Amino acid sequence: MTAHPTDFIAPGATLGVLGGGQLGRMFAQAAQAAGYTVAVLEPDAHAPAAQVTPNHVRASYDDADALHQLARITAAVTIEFENVPAATLDWLDAHVQLAPHAPAVAVCQDRSAEKALFTRLGVACAPHAVIASEADARTAHIESLLPGILKTARLGYDGKGQMTVASAADLPAAWRALGGVTCVLERKLDLRQELSVILARGRDGQIVHLPPQQNLHRDGILFASFAPPSALEPALAQRAVQAAQAIARGLDYVGVLCVEFFVLDDGSLVANEMAPRPHNSGHHTLDSCDVSQFDLQVRALVGAPLVAPRQHSPAVMLNLLGDVWFDPSGQQREPDWAGVLALPGAHLHLYGKREPRRARKMGHLTFTAATTAQAAQAALQACSVLGLEPF
Ligand code: ADP
Ligand code: MG
Repeated sequence: MTAHPTDFIAPGATLGVLGGGQLGRMFAQAAQAAGYTVAVLEPDAHAPAAQVTPNHVRASYDDADALHQLARITAAVTIEFENVPAATLDWLDAHVQLAPHAPAVAVCQDRSAEKALFTRLGVACAPHAVIASEADARTAHIESLLPGILKTARLGYDGKGQMTVASAADLPAAWRALGGVTCVLERKLDLRQELSVILARGRDGQIVHLPPQQNLHRDGILFASFAPPSALEPALAQRAVQAAQAIARGLDYVGVLCVEFFVLDDGSLVANEMAPRPHNSGHHTLDSCDVSQFDLQVRALVGAPLVAPRQHSPAVMLNLLGDVWFDPSGQQREPDWAGVLALPGAHLHLYGKREPRRARKMGHLTFTAATTAQAAQAALQACSVLGLEPF
């Protein structure tokens, strides 16, 4: 460590972010609003965060010269995606003020490590088995895990790297189809609801959290988030927050952490996975809370006081995938932004990605209103304007 961990990094300093996607862009915008300069390490010249930062270190995440440069020009560094190479994180942890720390990110990179942590901390997770070899795929006692979902332990996102497995006989082929890498087989659970909890933990161990939101997925990708959910028992919300806090403490976590949960048909709560960064389900906080998840990321990184965010408006967030740039015949078109912006409480966020592709996250739309039901009404109208199936 080159700096005292408790030092407050005052505005004017340069903060670094690894990764130039939309999360890096929104981190940079929050940091800039608070008076910081931002440097981004990102190989793509046109990446969303590179467009908004004056210091673009254009190199791959394992480029030693680039890491030295980043360490030289920044007072602290954070990440916007979890799959930063381990060697990079270890090096940064030793040479700059990094939040979150490398060992915590390493757990979040690996579903089997996540589940081992949940189990160790007494946080329930889906019944599962690690499938690391052809022999595991053939001999594992998996009847109780079927029908199941086989997920690659590493590098999966937006439903990628997952296959459903109906019978034990299907498992070896599914494992090979996912590349023969270490996987986790989980039982497919009957979900009543999906929730996520986003919190921030400071270097001093203080934790603040955002209100839990309900998440709706389509094809494994987040489609909409509802905050606050229209039907969420307060006791359940509290259990989710307490579980997320226990996980953050168990990891000695510093920074913003998101934990995804399933609520099962019997009302029980199961931790699914976590992200060592702001999360898509928290994007509504930009417009619905006095302190957003990106503000919290900045505060935790610079050692500023963490204040409990207050949600001033109920909100519904819709993801804008590249699909809405195509009409039903497959012709590319510009979505009807004027039609969307005519709706009450609409906040349009686009990430500056040049090429719309199906399933690619191009932006999001948040609707704020006096109630979640009213925000959902406006979001449903937006679905109609954009040609999306209503939820
Ligand atoms: P990703 O990294 O792609 O977000 P997740 O593990 O969160 O992977 O899975 C994506 C979505 O798939 C979840 O939000 C949920 O809707 C569904 N899903 C994942 N695991 C299960 C499960 N064990 N049972 C039922 N649905 C699941
Ligand atoms: Mg997920």
